[in-house]
Amino acid sequence: MNKTFLVDYHTHTVRCGHAGGTMEEYVEAAIERGLQEIGFSDHIPWYWVTEERRDYAIAMPMDQFDDYVQDVRRLRERYPQIPIRLGVEADYIPGHEDQLAQILGRYDWDYVIGSCHFLGEWGFDNPDETAEYDNWDLGELYDRFWELEIAAARTGLFDIMAHLDLIKKFGHRPPAGYDLLGAYRRVAGAMAETGVAIELSVAGTRKPVREYYPHPDLLRACCEKGVDLVISSDAHHPSEVGRDFDAALRVAAASGYDRLVSFARRKRLFHSIR
Ligand code: ZN
Ligand code: FE
Ligand code: FE
Ligand code: ZN
Repeated sequence: MNKTFLVDYHTHTVRCGHAGGTMEEYVEAAIERGLQEIGFSDHIPWYWVTEERRDYAIAMPMDQFDDYVQDVRRLRERYPQIPIRLGVEADYIPGHEDQLAQILGRYDWDYVIGSCHFLGEWGFDNPDETAEYDNWDLGELYDRFWELEIAAARTGLFDIMAHLDLIKKFGHRPPAGYDLLGAYRRVAGAMAETGVAIELSVAGTRKPVREYYPHPDLLRACCEKGVDLVISSDAHHPSEVGRDFDAALRVAAASGYDRLVSFARRKRLFHSIR
């Protein structure tokens, strides 16, 4: 067993409509796996549309957001043996930054995870909406996606960017001749400039693409630029909390990382990889 300070900050709850298990079970799984901290980061309510257009199979209703935060705070009293961090996975929707800043401002987050799940109205990581990939030139799609990730990081609203190359989820690759390594350097440089951290997510290994998010080449580019890293599960069930983190740790180390970061009240602490 390694002695690296491991945390899992990317976990969901039943409130989002597509996750299972109780929050207590997530915490107990983290304790059993020997994690040093667990954080919850359920999907933020769809702040960018009106109530009738919200999809409660993707994110909790707005009127449950307080309850979610209270649930996390209550768990801290029940499980004093492990720090329980308060986080959220917040969608980046261009043009709605002010609304997002306002809703984030209501709570004392330990960290905010920034995510790009939408290009316009298209939820490109939604298994029900994959037909839309056929309407795109994949090179253009990748370019649009990178620009979105970079714009998200530049808002300064996020501490950690999630699944940095999520666009590959269903196995759609850029065409031959596409300069993927150049794109990786550009994305990594932008992340470094903004000071945001990224996650190495094992979730992609369970998806059709069967790869980590991000690809080890993008991870290496981020390491070279000095971007901070967390390892995360994107758990939608307690059994996924902290799972396969030893393998992920080896990937991080092989990509050049010698430390991981943790968050408390949006401040960073560093932990060397052993
Ligand atoms: Zn989810
Ligand atoms: Fe996500
Ligand atoms: Fe997630
Ligand atoms: Zn996610």
